[in-house]
Amino acid sequence: MKPRRFEVDVAVVGGGFSGSSLALLMRRADPSLRVLILERKEAFDRKVGESSIELSAWFMLRVLRLGNHLFARQIPKYGLRFWFHNEKVHTLADASELGNLYQTRVPSFHIDRAILDEHVLALASAEGALLWRPSRVMDWTLHDGGPSTLEVETADGPARVQARWVVDATGRKATLARRLGLLHPIPEHPIRAVWARYQGVRDFDGDWLPGREEGKGGAVCLRGLSTNHLVGAGYWIWSIPLPDGDTSVGVVWDKRICDLPKGGSLGERFEGFLRATPAGRELMQGAVRREADLHLLNDLPYRVEKIAGDGWAMVGDAAGFIDPFYSPGLDWAGLTCTKTSKLILDALRGEKMAEKIEGLNREFTRGFRRWVEALYLDKYFYMGDAELMGLALRLEVALYYFGVVTPPYREGIGALSVPFSAPVSEPFYRLLRFFNRRLARLARLRLRAGTYGRRNAGHRDLLPGFALGASSLKWIPKCLAMLIALEIRSLPDYFAARHRTKRPAPASREELPAFPPPGPSPCYFSAPRRRRPRSCP
Ligand SMILES: Cc1cc2nc3c(=O)[nH]c(=O)nc-3n(C[C@H](O)[C@H](O)[C@H](O)COP(=O)(O)OP(=O)(O)OC[C@H]3O[C@@H](n4cnc5c(N)ncnc54)[C@H](O)[C@@H]3O)c2cc1C
Repeated sequence: MKPRRFEVDVAVVGGGFSGSSLALLMRRADPSLRVLILERKEAFDRKVGESSIELSAWFMLRVLRLGNHLFARQIPKYGLRFWFHNEKVHTLADASELGNLYQTRVPSFHIDRAILDEHVLALASAEGALLWRPSRVMDWTLHDGGPSTLEVETADGPARVQARWVVDATGRKATLARRLGLLHPIPEHPIRAVWARYQGVRDFDGDWLPGREEGKGGAVCLRGLSTNHLVGAGYWIWSIPLPDGDTSVGVVWDKRICDLPKGGSLGERFEGFLRATPAGRELMQGAVRREADLHLLNDLPYRVEKIAGDGWAMVGDAAGFIDPFYSPGLDWAGLTCTKTSKLILDALRGEKMAEKIEGLNREFTRGFRRWVEALYLDKYFYMGDAELMGLALRLEVALYYFGVVTPPYREGIGALSVPFSAPVSEPFYRLLRFFNRRLARLARLRLRAGTYGRRNAGHRDLLPGFALGASSLKWIPKCLAMLIALEIRSLPDYFAARHRTKRPAPASREELPAFPPPGPSPCYFSAPRRRRPRSCP
């Protein structure tokens, strides 16, 4: 059958959150534009990306204007909450807790992505974007300066679409980056994830914690409305409430440090891992997994060398992915969509593009690399230690509020920039990278000395919250003082580690693969005397 021919200004491949947001922004900015969305799925299923943070909430509230939808159909979120454990923790009530005391001041949400993505796609269509659904893009022929050609399979047979601009919004498929050889793995950050949705997960504020901590203070806000993390050396388990009463539960781990237990089906290995921690066991007591809703992803992070050229661009996950920890996925989607829609509008107005495209690529690739280095490299070594993670959380969230969330709230969309890409952000990038490296080093030392997680039982570290503006900067001297105190308190660990392992701590990240040592056990929670692995978590 001869393909139908079709011409548009912008063809967006993928109608998920990023693709439909981009189409919506373009049509709102210029209703005369012919924008076509090509979406493979007839209906969206549940995805991950269920916890939004403050920048993506700003994007959804102020740029996409989804306020009514978010407050009526999704769930408000009260920040992050961490639960730690060591050998003294037998129930969640024994675990050290780190998280909000009160509700957050700046909005963020727990999201059912199937509902949100359908809503944004419907808005883009109502705004005049054309939607072919289901339709699958099978081939791309790019021409610098356009028009480019897409070969599409639709319910009515094949079609050939010519577009001045084509945008890849295919998510982790990252079709364009792979075709152009621009996609690269990030082997120095080897993380994996498994997740599922459950009914009947234990309610943090129901029959679980309140009874046990009667008269002992505790958080003022509902803990169940935080993104709850059960953390250990090398991994975090998330628990995210969804609007229909289900709970999303998943684990992300650094494969250098631990792994799922061996043997059995994926579901058994996943649930075995969850039940191996005291809080995980309680969390999952009586929980029933939704049928056919179990997902595994190996090698989560990847980077893209260049996210736009003259006539093509990538948005959302198609433009790179770092780590779900702290939930930056929808922030990245908001950033890439906002900047790309402006770029395409400028191009269609006939402006000179070479410099703008180069500037955009520089901004995104520099920001992405620094984002990885400042926050994520080796973080899984220290996230399971309450003292080390408590320090990191304070500094990282404070600087996120100051440098990333404040400018767009105060000055509008023009003030939005990719974190760490502007020259003014360089000292903050260096500061965060310094802290991240020091904390990872202290964690490795503690693991070797057998002192990892010494404050993981019985402590409540409840933070009064963060606000927009310069007040967040007060955390810099406070965190420096905390780091110095931690370094001093860790001095005996150097001797203990030497005594236990008869081997110095690795001097640099490059030496890391040798530690923990390879072996059959799923997890090296600590490095005991004869370097015998202990069971995990
Ligand atoms: C384990 C894990 C946990 C996460 N948790 C969070 C979190 O808590 N918070 C957060 O903000 N982010 C999170 N993320 C990231 C988040 O899921 C993504 O950033 C987000 O879903 C990206 O949306 P997208 O629209 O770019 O891609 P997608 O949502 O994947 O959409 C891509 C769309 O393209 C369509 N498509 C693909 N190929 C074709 C084709 N050839 N033709 C036509 N259509 C096509 C697909 O059907 C799909 O609808 C997490 C990611 C992982 C892996």
